[in-house]
Amino acid sequence: MTAVSDPAAAPRFDAAVPLLPPARRFAALGDDYAPQTATTPLPEPSLLHFNQDLALRIGLDPQAARQAEFAQAMAGNRPWSGYPPVSSVYAGHQFGVFVPQLGDGRAHLVAELQGRDGARWELQLKGGGQTPWSRFADGRAVLRSSIREYLASEAKHALGIPTTRALSLVGSPAPVRRETIESAAVVCRAAPGFVRFGHFEFFYYQGRHDRLAPLADHVLNEHFPQFADRPDRYAAWLAEVVEGTARLMARWQAVGFCHGVMNTDNFSILGLTIDYGPYGFIDAFDAHHVCNHSDEGGRYAYDQQPMIGHWNCSRLLQACLPLLAAQPEQAVEIAQSLLDRYPPAYAEAMTRAWADKIGLRELRPEDPELINRYLGILHRGHSDFTRSFRHLSRLRTDTDGPAHGVRDEIADLAGFDAWTVDYRARLRAENSNDAERATRMNAVNPKYVLRNHLVQRAIEQARQGSHGEIDTLFRLLRRPFDEQPELERYADEPPVAERHIEVSCSS
Ligand code: AMP
Ligand code: MG
Repeated sequence: MTAVSDPAAAPRFDAAVPLLPPARRFAALGDDYAPQTATTPLPEPSLLHFNQDLALRIGLDPQAARQAEFAQAMAGNRPWSGYPPVSSVYAGHQFGVFVPQLGDGRAHLVAELQGRDGARWELQLKGGGQTPWSRFADGRAVLRSSIREYLASEAKHALGIPTTRALSLVGSPAPVRRETIESAAVVCRAAPGFVRFGHFEFFYYQGRHDRLAPLADHVLNEHFPQFADRPDRYAAWLAEVVEGTARLMARWQAVGFCHGVMNTDNFSILGLTIDYGPYGFIDAFDAHHVCNHSDEGGRYAYDQQPMIGHWNCSRLLQACLPLLAAQPEQAVEIAQSLLDRYPPAYAEAMTRAWADKIGLRELRPEDPELINRYLGILHRGHSDFTRSFRHLSRLRTDTDGPAHGVRDEIADLAGFDAWTVDYRARLRAENSNDAERATRMNAVNPKYVLRNHLVQRAIEQARQGSHGEIDTLFRLLRRPFDEQPELERYADEPPVAERHIEVSCSS
């Protein structure tokens, strides 16, 4: 007789989802790209949170999360059946300066799966111990930064923004030295792939140009199969990467998201948001907002992000020159034409996103100015970014009276009242219907975002051993556009005392 409660008889959680065939695996690229690297066990791992929806999508049995072996596996204490972990090497431009060798210094790829949804899923543990690429660091991640990554990944996904996902969050009492002693944690990230711009830069600047094509071919075959058979496949693929990056930047701008460390090693070849460190969703709007306390020069300020995305694409294209043509002059010419796709792709995505945010169905030549004026009003008065867009849906066109419900959010009232005259005229010019527009606007302007003070409270609770707030935020932010009256206070601006929480690269 087989009892379900008999742990020996219970199917291993990792038996349910097939590994990708070896030829399709990133790990199959071999040691030059990603050598096998064992994780280092962590003592007393406990599952602090688990993403059931994502598990179901991938095909993992959510019941599996209850098995002790699952926490062990998600801490890196047990390998996935049949898959030896690997860690990959990459380089990158950090704050504009080229660093020839970085790599997965604390990340292990622990599985490559064919998900139940038909998609490819790679699982990566962040914080599972040292790798050949750890340099002088400990290979660990602290609870604080792991909670930040876990929640932000899923909050971003629920906003409809391309991102790596998060499957589990495991904590351990193991001490980790940062500015103070903190405790260790491991996030299991999930994505179709984790290839970064910096993977290509590594081989290019090492002069190992013959190593570029196998990497590019893997990316093309697995992630851009629509281009794989074209004679100009590298150019077609890179055009898509450039435009995808431009669109991603527009998505970040539209929700007031600042990444904080937009180095080329933190840019995904799939156009995903990756590496959540000192990120922030802007509260009081300042176009020059810098979320990373370590970024003293403001290189990665909010209003610099689109330009940096463009520059990062130039670094990627530089590294891919040998793929584009045998003749250097010709390769440069092709690369330039690819790079030139960025500004129009960004402008188109951004203009459409702002127009959607203020509820315009059509796009007219005068609209960018109308949008910029609104942003200027928010910037001058340091109005709350999320609330001022969310509440704008309450403005009505059937009256010219004061825009109740929005004005409370605005500090520059003179500017705002003048702006509403033109805004109402513009809405009337396309026969905008107040109720219909409000529905559209509320579907693109989130009510709830992962504000720094909210995640900070969850971190402080977790340090006291209570994980309820992680779960509350996780659930809240799965539905960022829905009114959730019982959690209304999570849409508030941060209290004065919690407005200037400093986040830095320490993680
Ligand atoms: P980041 O600024 O977090 O993107 O990290 C830059 C590089 O440093 C990456 O290659 C990371 O893998 C590596 N790194 C960061 N923290 C650690 C750590 N605690 N142990 C090992 N490598 C790390
Ligand atoms: Mg990184």
